[in-house]
Amino acid sequence: MDDNNKGLSRREFLKRLGLTSAVAMVELSPLSAITNNKPEKPREPNANNMMTYRVHRKTGDKVSLLGYGMMRLPFKDRQVDQELVNAEVKYALEHGVNYFDTSPHYVNGRSESSLGEALKASGFPRKSYYIATKMSNFGEPEWPMEKSVEMYHQSFKQLQVDYIDYYLLHGIGMGSMESFQKRFIDNGLLDFLLKEREAGRIRNLGFSYHADIAVFDHLLANHDKYKWDFAQIEMNYVDWRHAKEVNTRNTNAEYLYNECEKRGIQCVMMEPLLGGRLAKLPDVYSRKLKERRPDDSIASWAFRFCGTYPNVLTALSGMTYMEHLIDNVKTYSPLDPCTTDELALLEDIATNLAAYPTIPCTSCKYCMPCPFGVDIPGNFAYYNNCINEGTLPPTEETAPDFKEKQAAFVAGFNKALKPSELATACTGCRQCQSKCPQRIRIPNQLSRLVDLLEKGNPET
Ligand code: SF4
Ligand code: SF4
Repeated sequence: MDDNNKGLSRREFLKRLGLTSAVAMVELSPLSAITNNKPEKPREPNANNMMTYRVHRKTGDKVSLLGYGMMRLPFKDRQVDQELVNAEVKYALEHGVNYFDTSPHYVNGRSESSLGEALKASGFPRKSYYIATKMSNFGEPEWPMEKSVEMYHQSFKQLQVDYIDYYLLHGIGMGSMESFQKRFIDNGLLDFLLKEREAGRIRNLGFSYHADIAVFDHLLANHDKYKWDFAQIEMNYVDWRHAKEVNTRNTNAEYLYNECEKRGIQCVMMEPLLGGRLAKLPDVYSRKLKERRPDDSIASWAFRFCGTYPNVLTALSGMTYMEHLIDNVKTYSPLDPCTTDELALLEDIATNLAAYPTIPCTSCKYCMPCPFGVDIPGNFAYYNNCINEGTLPPTEETAPDFKEKQAAFVAGFNKALKPSELATACTGCRQCQSKCPQRIRIPNQLSRLVDLLEKGNPET
């Protein structure tokens, strides 16, 4: 399989399930910090669980290097396709994936219940997997303590569990220090969560970080007080050293990772594919990677990069389609770490990619739904794709190929999105603005896309 961007047909998917349903549940064996079973060729999805695990230093949890992010669930007839989620979760468990990450905020509040149902339906015992969920008390101006505590208790109900393995303060840094103070300190919420950890209902307490580095530094500086069990950071081979070039509000993952490692805090990684960008590179870079490892997907390089760092506990991937899951399982079954030479190649590609003027959208969908129906990440994804493929119309309307490229650009947009989802439907209401962890000025960027779409159109 090549790039991570297509779904399997239902028939093909069920056929594969039939093949895997007989796979026996595999007991995890004790493993050292990195377990590398011998790679087998060809690297087909295996029935013998060759997954690489990392050991959590405090609890001894043997966590699969591939973590399942439940923020991009499949839909059918405008509903979560629960049948497919159940099947994917079961496949993941059968192939050694045992870390599932959700939030009350994901999929418009449907992710936790969907995951709870899928885990129940899998028949795997509660102790054979780890559930991570979050205190997602953001998006509204005020979050009284009672409402946050209610969100916490609701997570247990939705997930159908009586303890949570990994609990996170969600998106610290998305606002300023002031916002962190309001969300977790002034109202006593962090004290409450620390007590819940003492009581054992939270087994590990950590945080996920975006944007404002002052909040990250503050939490790490207070590690002796809070004793963080893990931290979730955005890490991939572009953000490693070029996060600021991609988005001036971000911090290099190398700094975040090293600061955590210094203090013995293990990292859960998010955005290993930089919102999907690293699953489909411009041809010039894809060719370089394919020359080295012709049988491997482009996405697998990004996952191997993440796994190469030993303080990474697990790398989260939001796997909507079965083929994403199969490919990622294959990459980490077992992990073949990047060589120094391969890391240098990825750094070279990252340097070039960081110079592309893309919109730093990771498709996290925190900004959705837009009350006016705009598919915000869909618009940005199409634009970014044009940048990567060099198909954006020239800026000069007098350029010889302007008309042709402009027409293709508009036609592509109309094919990728419904008219009601296009940037042109944006009213500039700004309701999405404060929800973006990447601090993208969403209405301004959409307005820029509208200008591009209308450019050269005599009727505008
Ligand atoms: S500013 Fe535009 S995209 Fe954002 S919520 Fe309003 S209409 Fe939707
Ligand atoms: S615009 Fe921001 S909030 Fe919306 S999907 Fe992209 S990164 Fe996420």
